[in-house]
Amino acid sequence: MPEPATLLARVFGFPGFRPGQEEIVQSVLAGRNTLAIMPTGGGKSLCFQLPALCRDGVTVVISPLIALMRDQVRSLREAGVEAGALTSGNTEDETEEVFSAIDEGRLKLLYIAPERLASPATLPLLRRAGVSLIAVDEAHCVSQWGHDFRPDYLRIGDLRRTLNVPLAAFTATADEETRAEIVTRLFDGAAPATFLRGFDRPNIHLAFAAKDSPRDQILRFAAARKGQSGIVYCGTRAKTETLAQALCEAGHHALAYHAGLDPDRRRFVETRFQRDDGLIVVATVAFGMGIDKPDIRWVAHADLPKSIESYYQEIGRAGRDGAPAETLTLYGADDIRFRRQQIDESAAPLERKQADHGRLNTLLGLAEAIGCRRQVLLGYFGEAAEPCGNCDLCDRPAEVFDATEAVRKALSAVLRTGESFGAGHLIDILTGSLTDKVRDRGHDALPTFGVGRELSKTQWTALFRQMMGRDLVRPDPERHGALRMTDAARPVLRGEVQMLFRKDTAPAAKAMVRSLV
Ligand code: ADP
Ligand code: ZN
Repeated sequence: MPEPATLLARVFGFPGFRPGQEEIVQSVLAGRNTLAIMPTGGGKSLCFQLPALCRDGVTVVISPLIALMRDQVRSLREAGVEAGALTSGNTEDETEEVFSAIDEGRLKLLYIAPERLASPATLPLLRRAGVSLIAVDEAHCVSQWGHDFRPDYLRIGDLRRTLNVPLAAFTATADEETRAEIVTRLFDGAAPATFLRGFDRPNIHLAFAAKDSPRDQILRFAAARKGQSGIVYCGTRAKTETLAQALCEAGHHALAYHAGLDPDRRRFVETRFQRDDGLIVVATVAFGMGIDKPDIRWVAHADLPKSIESYYQEIGRAGRDGAPAETLTLYGADDIRFRRQQIDESAAPLERKQADHGRLNTLLGLAEAIGCRRQVLLGYFGEAAEPCGNCDLCDRPAEVFDATEAVRKALSAVLRTGESFGAGHLIDILTGSLTDKVRDRGHDALPTFGVGRELSKTQWTALFRQMMGRDLVRPDPERHGALRMTDAARPVLRGEVQMLFRKDTAPAAKAMVRSLV
């Protein structure tokens, strides 16, 4: 059997392994069922390609991305490896060539699209080919509650059982639920050797700030990095345009980008960003997929990302070259309401909505974190870490206060008004403000009226945001903006848990600028 390290240099031209690759290669080579979780760009494909070359027989690779399969086949062939693909994009000649390579026993890697598994001709073909290993790329596609569910992936478990060969599954999606589903569906619940490596991007500085004056916060952040390439992500198309304009007026070179622009314009912006130095692209999430620019120096979120996975992926576009890069993510109560509403209004089944609320909660937990952000982020991916020394909370620890009493007062205001009102009205009640609405509803007669005068309206606003962030209250999808208490709040009401909240993070946003100039 050829040595992996020799082939690594000879076939792939790499001087060494990346973090995590070698252990995964060894596990797959040893014929163990293996689950590898690595971030996008971490070098997953090598972890099945290399064992495929070392082992006897054919390795079947199942991947949902046809373009990517074709790319991999092309570069393997250029490196002199017998590889082929069976996908809907094949020409007849290509398919013929794959068949004869199988029949002559030459083929080492056979890429197939998941749809192929539904065809009755596939199993006999794979039997004939002498498959000795199944590699599954993008294994999270087997998860029914995930965003990329592929029904044909459910056939892979059967295939493994029938061929009775080891299976190696690869994904960048690390949440526990998805991992558990992969184990159930691909490995019949028998725990595979699991590797989770390389999620840390230590050169990226992490920072969050509560929205105070978001436009100015972004302008200040950009001003401290003038001339550097950066991306500002916005929640809406309209905002990309206005913010790009504001940045231009402040003397930056900035362009807007979103899916509503015509394809020519989009390509123009992509090319300029790729080639120019110091361009800022103000974009919706539509921007980034095809961008491979190593020296993006900063990424800012003008609005809260959709989930912790999106956050990780979007900030991960900064600093691919390994040099220091900086990020800033703004968030406010409106973002939380907006994201919850998006989830509730989607057509997804209930379980999926619950999972999405959970993913949003994790991101909010990161936003309102008290300790090192990288520890929280990597903890979510299952990696343990020391305090990083490269996030806003390591730079300057959060000041916390015991918010238990205040939270209980707020919850009581929510309950006594029948869970029918938004934060604004509840804050009026708590601070004893005699507005028309308070008077009309008779809420000045409630025992909670004026019990929260010790905090200012701004402080209450921050408190309600953090309560939403901890999922103690949730906007009612049926009644716009009205807050309902969640089950998570019951122990607080009963006085069973203490609530430590951050003193508001808005001052921290200003301190950010200080640390950067
Ligand atoms: P993904 O994990 O997203 O599937 P790929 O397998 O496409 O990532 O790898 C990402 C990039 O890293 C590719 O350009 C690949 O050639 C490169 N790469 C992978 N392993 C190594 C290595 N050991 N040394 C240098 N570059 C590597
Ligand atoms: Zn840190």
